[in-house]
Formats: sequence, structure tokens, C-alpha cells
Amino acid sequence: MNGTAHMAIGATVGFLTANTLQTDPTTTLFLVGMGGVSGLMPDMDIDGKLSNRITFSHKFIRTLAQTIGILLIIYSVLEGFEKEKWIGVGAGIGLIIISSFITQRHMLTLTGLGVLGVGISLQENWLWLLGIYIILASFTPHRSYTHSIAGIAFFGIIAFQIQASLEIEGIFTTCLLGYISHLIADMKFLPFNKRGVKLFLPFFSKEF
Ligand SMILES: [Zn+2]
Repeated sequence: MNGTAHMAIGATVGFLTANTLQTDPTTTLFLVGMGGVSGLMPDMDIDGKLSNRITFSHKFIRTLAQTIGILLIIYSVLEGFEKEKWIGVGAGIGLIIISSFITQRHMLTLTGLGVLGVGISLQENWLWLLGIYIILASFTPHRSYTHSIAGIAFFGIIAFQIQASLEIEGIFTTCLLGYISHLIADMKFLPFNKRGVKLFLPFFSKEF
């Protein structure tokens, strides 16, 4: 299943969560966005070694890295104090510049390192955990650990920390269900999936 479909499903999950919780319009919009991002998250591993032949992914990763760079700058300006602010802005600018010419293979790893560094300097648990998630995803083959129960658990911890930090209800549920929706949409019982997902890595490598 392609990225657009995964994002649409995740966004729908966010919308349904918002509806269930009867959130205000701003929160609803935010949850729809968070759902969309979470629905794409497991495919952070498309930069993995097996997928270097996929031609569109280079552009996708570059756009993703540049978007993260822009978000880092905005977030650092809004949330950081003097020194941290400039570290965040610098990391964001660096990410945008580096991602415009570096090879696909190392881009995600660098993105993850940048997010990790900013997360540590801002002391935001979810941000440095997300950095570690991205670094790990950049080293694992496509449809492996990010597409497993271990991946759900890791992202669930990140989602929990985002909710704790932003104090907006529904984030944890949206992110977790958005992520799970991706794995379900990648499963073998759906006729358009030739490969399934190895849910029980690292214990069993059976595909579901
Ligand atoms: Zn996937």
C-alpha cells in the first residue's frame, strides 16, 4: 500500500478519535494531522538496505527530512530558551541543507541524529525517543521491526510522551491506532499485499 493511502487511513483514525472524544475543532484538526503522520511512520524504514532500488523513496525521504527540519526550527523558536533555541534552529537548517544533497542511505540516520540531539537539548522525551526510532528505522530492512509489535510498543511510548508533553487529549490513542492501522493495511490477508508483516520479530519471522 502506498504512502498516500496509509496517510489517509491514519488521518481517518485521527478524525474518528476526535469525534469519539468530542474535541474542539482545533484539536480535531491536530489529531487528523497526527493520525496521518502516525499512519506513515512505520515506512520510515523504506531507507533500509532492501529498498534502495525504490526510486520514489529518495524524494520522499528528502521531503520528509526537510519537513522535519522546518518543524524543528518552528518548535525550537516557540519552545526553546536562549541556547537551546539556536541549537534547534541550527540543527533544522543543517538538516534542510544536508538533505538536499546527501545520499538516501544516510539521510534518515542523520535526520534521526538531529532529532535526538534537539530532543536531548530541549529535554523533550518524545523528541529524543523519536530520534532513536528514526535512527533504528534507518538501519533495519523494510517491513521488519517498525512493522512489528515491538515497533508498536516503541511508538506507543513516544505517543504517550507526546501526550504528556503537549497535554492534548486523544494524541496517545490517535498515534497508537494510526500506527496499528498501517500494519493492518500491510498484512497478507489483503489481496494487494504480496508480502506480509513480521509481527513477532525478533522472536518469530513468520509473515502475517
Ligand atoms: Zn509499510
